[in-house]
Amino acid sequence: MRPPVSSLSTRFTESVIREMTRLILLRHGERGINLAQGFPDFAAPQELKEAACAAIMADVNQYAITWGDPLLRAAIAAKYARPYGMQVDPDRQVPVCCGATETMIASLLAVLERGDEVIILEPFYENYGPDCLISGASPRYVPLRPPHWDVDADELAAAFTARTRAIIVNTPHNPTGKVFSRDQLGLIARLCVEHDTLAITDEIYEHMVYSGEHVPLATLPGMAKRTITINGLSKTFSVTGWRLGYAVAPPPITDALRKIHDFLTVGAAAPLQRAAVTALQLPDSYYHDLLAAYRQRRDHLVETLRLAGFTVYPPDGAYYVMTDISGLGDAGDVEFVRHLIEEAGVAAVPGSSFYAEPELGRTQVRFAFPKRLATLEAARERLVGMRAGAAPG
Ligand code: PLP
Repeated sequence: MRPPVSSLSTRFTESVIREMTRLILLRHGERGINLAQGFPDFAAPQELKEAACAAIMADVNQYAITWGDPLLRAAIAAKYARPYGMQVDPDRQVPVCCGATETMIASLLAVLERGDEVIILEPFYENYGPDCLISGASPRYVPLRPPHWDVDADELAAAFTARTRAIIVNTPHNPTGKVFSRDQLGLIARLCVEHDTLAITDEIYEHMVYSGEHVPLATLPGMAKRTITINGLSKTFSVTGWRLGYAVAPPPITDALRKIHDFLTVGAAAPLQRAAVTALQLPDSYYHDLLAAYRQRRDHLVETLRLAGFTVYPPDGAYYVMTDISGLGDAGDVEFVRHLIEEAGVAAVPGSSFYAEPELGRTQVRFAFPKRLATLEAARERLVGMRAGAAPG
């Protein structure tokens, strides 16, 4: 008898990151500390909440234009003009989708043919693999290795073949916190131009850069016409539940992406798109304060993990800390994290979920720090306590 589900759906598993969130809740309820999934446990900015309520009360409650509220698209285009000097046409280059997540899959569906290859730098945010498979493409992985997670020029060059259609670049990078330097991006750009390849960049952690600078790949020579820049509101404005993301892309790609997005979801939530205009117009001080607060959280968690005996790779950007657990015993990453959840009531993500070949992440575990300092302090007590063999608090 034919199986009840498609073969495609059997080619990947559910998200391990989101599974860890469910597990910590199930085992410990409100007492559990979730350093697995990347979402804040603190309030979203007051101005945004008020803007969302105001939009609902003003009856911005029906479908927005499929590819995005014009006011929001104008605000997005303006955002790219100022710091980066990117000339973006809000009517022809800015599709708005339901989160960076939908923007990524819609982008891939818009540009890939069955049999195309997509280069993914590994470790990688776990959605990219299934995204490629759903789009009918074959992912081809190129390693980033600790402690600096640089891409090797020869390995990258060797990954480009006649079938390569695109490379996915994520900077600042989840899970490693790497911020790709202008040099490393230049290498990627040169290969894209040479092989006439598209770049799809996920820049959702753009405003969390502790060291170095964020360089949009689209600003490098020859890249504007071959880059889809993906971003979203989730991380910068602490509204992961709003599901708002967008791309900046060349007009022909935008046209294709709009159609895919239309038939996938019709559109992102109209009142929240309107509120997002307020978000994008917040003053520079917002970004300054955001970064200062995240830097403090990062430093706190890095110190905790060192005290707890982990080998730590301090991140230059984003809001995760990648660690190595080799010094803490023989347990593999999955067993280690399950033990952490059971015994310490702290969730993290097994490193293997960021690799196509799980063995490569067997000694790695990722911790997220978009959390109140009180949460991070409680995590410190439990993690350091666990090392000392004390009963978890
Ligand atoms: N891209 C990266 C690299 C992420 O780490 C995440 C969430 O953790 C997302 C995209 C999801 O973004 P969104 O909430 O806009 O769908």
